[in-house]
Amino acid sequence: MLSRQIADRLRSYETPFYLYDINLLRQTLESVTALSSKYGFKLHYAIKANYDPHILSVIREYGLGADCASGNEVRCAIEAGFSPDGIVYAGVGKKDSEIRYAISQGIFSINCESLQELEVIDRTARELGKVQDIALRINPDIDPKTNSCIDTGQADSKFGISYEEVMANAALIKSYDNIRIRGMHLHIGSQIRELHVFEYLCDKVNAIVDCLSGLGFNFDFVDLGGGLGVNYDIPENEPVPNFASVFTIVNQYLNVSGREVHFEFGRSLVAQCGELITRVLFRKDTATGRKLVVVDASMTELIRPALYGAYHSIENITPREEGKDRYTIVGTACESTDVFNQSLTLPVTSRGDLLSIKSAGAYGMSMASRYNLHDLPGAVYSDEFDR
Ligand SMILES: *Cc1c(COP(=O)(O)O)cnc(C)c1O
Repeated sequence: MLSRQIADRLRSYETPFYLYDINLLRQTLESVTALSSKYGFKLHYAIKANYDPHILSVIREYGLGADCASGNEVRCAIEAGFSPDGIVYAGVGKKDSEIRYAISQGIFSINCESLQELEVIDRTARELGKVQDIALRINPDIDPKTNSCIDTGQADSKFGISYEEVMANAALIKSYDNIRIRGMHLHIGSQIRELHVFEYLCDKVNAIVDCLSGLGFNFDFVDLGGGLGVNYDIPENEPVPNFASVFTIVNQYLNVSGREVHFEFGRSLVAQCGELITRVLFRKDTATGRKLVVVDASMTELIRPALYGAYHSIENITPREEGKDRYTIVGTACESTDVFNQSLTLPVTSRGDLLSIKSAGAYGMSMASRYNLHDLPGAVYSDEFDR
């Protein structure tokens, strides 16, 4: 990891801050774009994973479109230079003003998540004198074998329209004049590490596309969403995620001839290029003998451990003492779930040491808050050092 190599230079920065390895980001983008072009797959970056302006500008260089989850994300993507004709916009609760904005910008597709939303898009497009391209976000009822907090494609989930509802209302759905149904969209969850889940997804998509084609739906594209997981346990073993395997599986199992295939990757593009660098404030022991390391970051900079028990590998990048010990790493926020690791073996750690919390490039900064009136963390980019 980058932080270990440049630890001495990092000492002078105000902590906590995100450190981004732009070379690794570029390697990741080179890998995903080279592989996707082999199969003719189209890529969108899910900007909710990280909308840091410098990260966005690098991603844009590689020609990806943007996947957005709110009107402000659509605006952010356009302002960062993403062309509207590569922007897709999903979200279970789009406000009228957001729908109006997206239509007025002429984005590639609104990924529609309910029958009522179709009606609102149609009415709004008519008012604006436009016809909007949309995709139906279908809930495929697939268990993505990931943390249940971040699965999105099971029958009881709030996301998407059920396949049964589309079947039952096919005539109504096709009846709107100011909507063009161009695609079918699915996104079954995040941090998917069991890649055979993508095989099931392809099987389902084949069946759904077949049935809906029989009902007169004519899709130009199928958007399989994102969800590819990264190696949080030992990031050094897999700095660039295994895009090749997903693409090979989809190429082999998906049978939607003549239709474009789109992906919306978030986490897998940016997680490994980011580290959260934090300074040890205090070492103290609890009455029960637990050895606490209090760091100056907290759930306000990186909420994933507190929010859904996510694991991040942590390293002391400036150890000064011999030996090892076992610690609980806690943050500064006034919440007892503000724990980065309950039980972690590190080199003997003391006040002033810098710790790196790794694989923090996705859903880190983008979920940061100002709870306890903490300042938002800064960002340091590796290409600042190269210049
Ligand atoms: C969050 C999200 C993504 C990106 O998911 P990752 O797991 O970060 O790849 C893609 N599509 C939709 C609709 C999403 O909500």
